[in-house]
Amino acid sequence: MPIRRLAPTTINRIAAGEVIERPAAAVKELVENAIDAGATRIFIDISGGGIERIDITDDGTGIPADQLALAIERHATSKLTDDALIRIDTLGFRGEALPSIGAAGRLTLISRVAGAPSAFSIKISGGAVGEVMPAAGAVGTRAIVEDLFYATPARRKFLRSPRAEADACELLVWRLALAAPHIAFRLMLEGRLIFDLPAQDPALRIGALFGREAEGALLPIEATRDNVHLHAFAGPASLHRQSASRQSFVVNGRPVTDPLLRTALRVAYRELIPAGRHPVAALYLTLPAEALDVNVHPAKTELRFADGNGVRSLIIGAFGRALAGTAGMAVPPGFQFRPGHLPRNRPPLAAPGAPAPVTYSTAQRGFAEAEQAFGFDLPAAARMIEPSAPDPSQPLGAPLAQIFDTYILAVASDGSLVLVDQHAAHERLTEEHLRAEFLAGGVRAQTLLLPVVVDLAPREADILANAAPALQSFGLEIEPFGPGAILVRAMPAALGQADAAALLRDLADDLADGAAGGGTDSLVMKLDAVLARMACHRSIRAGRRLAAAEMSALLRDMEATPRAATCSHGRPTFLKLSRAELESLFGRS
Ligand code: ADP
Ligand code: MG
Repeated sequence: MPIRRLAPTTINRIAAGEVIERPAAAVKELVENAIDAGATRIFIDISGGGIERIDITDDGTGIPADQLALAIERHATSKLTDDALIRIDTLGFRGEALPSIGAAGRLTLISRVAGAPSAFSIKISGGAVGEVMPAAGAVGTRAIVEDLFYATPARRKFLRSPRAEADACELLVWRLALAAPHIAFRLMLEGRLIFDLPAQDPALRIGALFGREAEGALLPIEATRDNVHLHAFAGPASLHRQSASRQSFVVNGRPVTDPLLRTALRVAYRELIPAGRHPVAALYLTLPAEALDVNVHPAKTELRFADGNGVRSLIIGAFGRALAGTAGMAVPPGFQFRPGHLPRNRPPLAAPGAPAPVTYSTAQRGFAEAEQAFGFDLPAAARMIEPSAPDPSQPLGAPLAQIFDTYILAVASDGSLVLVDQHAAHERLTEEHLRAEFLAGGVRAQTLLLPVVVDLAPREADILANAAPALQSFGLEIEPFGPGAILVRAMPAALGQADAAALLRDLADDLADGAAGGGTDSLVMKLDAVLARMACHRSIRAGRRLAAAEMSALLRDMEATPRAATCSHGRPTFLKLSRAELESLFGRS
């Protein structure tokens, strides 16, 4: 075939694949345009997951009628003043967003500049550009996107459910609203008001968007290193989450999802929160434009720092100091622990969800008293128990000792050595118990004497409220309780005294993570995830001292339970060394 130039529409559709991967990307580009236009308020209305319709109105400068056609042309921008791409102080600069959206869907722009006799509109559908026409509208710009990806069916096939796309849109607006607290934001999603925020102080904006649980608990951080300034709000170590979506990184006003920043945050919290969990934080970095390359990817969400190591150290150092300041202050000499060592199932010291460092105040009353009051102390290397003769019908044998308050050492009648991870094993048993109940018609619920109200981020409360009918068969009876709150009426009986707030937060994360839209079917598909999550909230923790009878009961329970050999994360719950294995390990055979 001879070489030919691609038609502009084809070029734009190809570009659309990179710039506008999903509806959330279109939302991002349009809101960024509104921010670049100096808007003081931005209204966003999304329906059908953004695939059907996105409608964004701003009160910015507007686009003059004679430039409307240019605005939707490829590589046309009013923003880039520095052709060397060093001084980029607008969110947009590539002139690709509007033509890409117009190539993949139907875009209507209605815009009016101050002093113009009226607004003017232009339409572009699948790359076909219409006439500029007078229209009604105030100063500013309104962009309406309909039928996104109708012209690029290959892309449309890869979209997730409208519900999942709506969640992604919401997360994007959440990030942008955090990046620009000086702008009023209103978000409507599927006909419901998600938030309506006035222009406000960053701390207030963060409080509003991170949910009531975080309000007042976030530690402000201010630090500078060389020419990089960090202003941040650090979640307390107790506020860790299932996913990293509650982290906001803003660099020179641009919301980003940069791996370097995310890793720095993870390192800063590494010793403080359980492995696999994610801290909650908002970071604002300001640095000279020339110390930054924002032109790494068409979506402009990744950056390159000239001095990446410096930025990383700044974050790790500043968070480390702030978090250390909340903990370990009044620890008596000789008493050293890291928060991870504290048994997590101690009786609540304060309201559920209160910052973990509250534990340290107990040190003021002396360690002995604290131990008495809360039943924890330092894990011993090994606690021996009175041995009993192993019964030949019990493959996991009789317990001999508890090691580091975490592993049970047992010996079977054939001389095999057995080591059990008490937490993993108990978690598995609880999960299997819940599963058996679920399969027999529904997890048994225990009505709470006093219903509990759990404060959540509005988005999480929504997710849970939608899943409420399905959660009922999991023994969890909840209902919406005003914006951002959920009322818990009953909990699964098998969970005992589990913390309802922590469970709901984790479930919201789980449900938001997957493709599940919250309908009964999708929730049941996530059966294992939900049961595992619940089990995790009840289980004996590593670090809890067990009585001999408890150890025996655990071993017997494991023998009686199918699938007890691995925990729900697939790790083994016990290790067994037979006599033959011992002999081969010692080279005797
Ligand atoms: P970029 O933002 O990279 O310049 P876009 O395709 O997003 O490229 O927009 C093209 C141009 O259209 C912008 O440079 C700007 O001049 C104009 N424009 C787009 N959206 C708006 C808006 N909401 N208000 C004012 N001008 C806008
Ligand atoms: Mg733009």
